[in-house]
Amino acid sequence: MRVFTAALATETNTFSPIAVDRRAFEASLYARPGEHPATPTLCTAPITVGREVCARQGWTLIEGSASWADPAGLVARTTYEELRDEILAQLQAAMPVDAVVLGLHGAMVAQGYDDPEGDLLSRIRTIVGPGVLVCAELDPHSHLTAKRVAAANFLVAFKEFPHTDFVDRARDLWSIAVRALKGEITPVMSVFDCRMIDVFPTSKQPMRGFVDQLYALERAEPGVLSLSVIHGFMAGDVPEMGTKIIAITNDNAAKGAALAEKLGRELFAMRGTFMVAQVDERAAVDAAIAAPRGPVVIADVWDNPGGGTAGDATVILAELIARGISDVAVGTIWDPIAVQICMAAGEGAEIPLRFGAKSAPHTGSPIDQLVRVNRLVRDAEMRFGESYAPFGDAAWISFAGIDVILNSTRAQSFDPSLFSVMGIDPKSRKILLIKSTNHFYDSFSRIASEIIYCAAGKPYPNTPATTPYRKARRDIWPMVENPWA
Ligand SMILES: [Zn+2]
Repeated sequence: MRVFTAALATETNTFSPIAVDRRAFEASLYARPGEHPATPTLCTAPITVGREVCARQGWTLIEGSASWADPAGLVARTTYEELRDEILAQLQAAMPVDAVVLGLHGAMVAQGYDDPEGDLLSRIRTIVGPGVLVCAELDPHSHLTAKRVAAANFLVAFKEFPHTDFVDRARDLWSIAVRALKGEITPVMSVFDCRMIDVFPTSKQPMRGFVDQLYALERAEPGVLSLSVIHGFMAGDVPEMGTKIIAITNDNAAKGAALAEKLGRELFAMRGTFMVAQVDERAAVDAAIAAPRGPVVIADVWDNPGGGTAGDATVILAELIARGISDVAVGTIWDPIAVQICMAAGEGAEIPLRFGAKSAPHTGSPIDQLVRVNRLVRDAEMRFGESYAPFGDAAWISFAGIDVILNSTRAQSFDPSLFSVMGIDPKSRKILLIKSTNHFYDSFSRIASEIIYCAAGKPYPNTPATTPYRKARRDIWPMVENPWA
């Protein structure tokens, strides 16, 4: 057997001011054929798992390019077209193949392309013809368009959010592909449109139980090969935005459709109950002051660079300053210009500095303070599980009992080590203000006396009922109360 694999992935917040070009992919991951590292990034596990699987089977794996850009705004048209055409040319050169196994994200939007993955998959289908297996792994924060469903034999999404299972789901993808190539099964995909959009963390109920049910059904239900929830991505203003269920069965589309519908209606019935309750900046600061001991973690949940925002909002920090609160450490505020100024001034310098809130509306105002530059770190990194996440050249500044880490590479606050690498002991501060929606929880909950989820300003389109979409469908909840009427 000859199997072609490649990856092309990013998550596009179409409301984000941070445009994405080829350099953004090269800064995160760009690997030419055969150059992909041994460990996968979020959307490239089909390549690394494919190496293991094909070696075991004695099959030939032909690797194409792998590209991943960290979540941000629209991808430049030429960047998408170049990366796509590179993969298509590699596939053309690899023909004939028996299967194509891809790592996608599924929420890319490029200038002129609302559905780049649908475009890529259908061009791949045109090259390989109807008889060749085409499949892909997806992030659940994606758009499941009809074009993708028509072009692919099957699609498997991560089940967990945080996405701790991206390698396991790549194994599922390959395991179905292997059995199909050996003629043991005929995977068919059934889709149910839940007519809703929501955010579904699996670290808490009710989504934890729902996902556990999917695992149980995959194990126990005869003929069911894989079940996925496409959560949808509310920051992507595209026509087919929304939550969907995918059921892959062994040649039993009717059973798959019935199961997908049953699960989808169950999910719809729980709409609006998935997220942790959030408070505004005033209530967040009140609660933090009232806490008997620290560190209290205030998560600025919607200014999360992991969801494509700039990560430079100052709304909560301004509230802390206005109320004269000290014993605070902020990690991080993205401001490469301010970092550059601090680097020029040097450690120990006292300078007037303007920082933050420069990139997008509804994120507060820039902060003007006389600051002390305490520590400068080039190419700073924080821990992220077993690996490291870079946050670029960084400056620790302080004023009036408030410490702020300014960074120059956008990164969400994954881990308290972002403070310690700068020289701040995170456990020693009463209040830690960080930027993350969900991924921070694992590591910060180990040191936090309390965690406060704060919705401040409007850096992210987090209320779909009022978001000024131009393209997204409006016949789903919460834009309409009853989409089934
Ligand atoms: Zn995701």
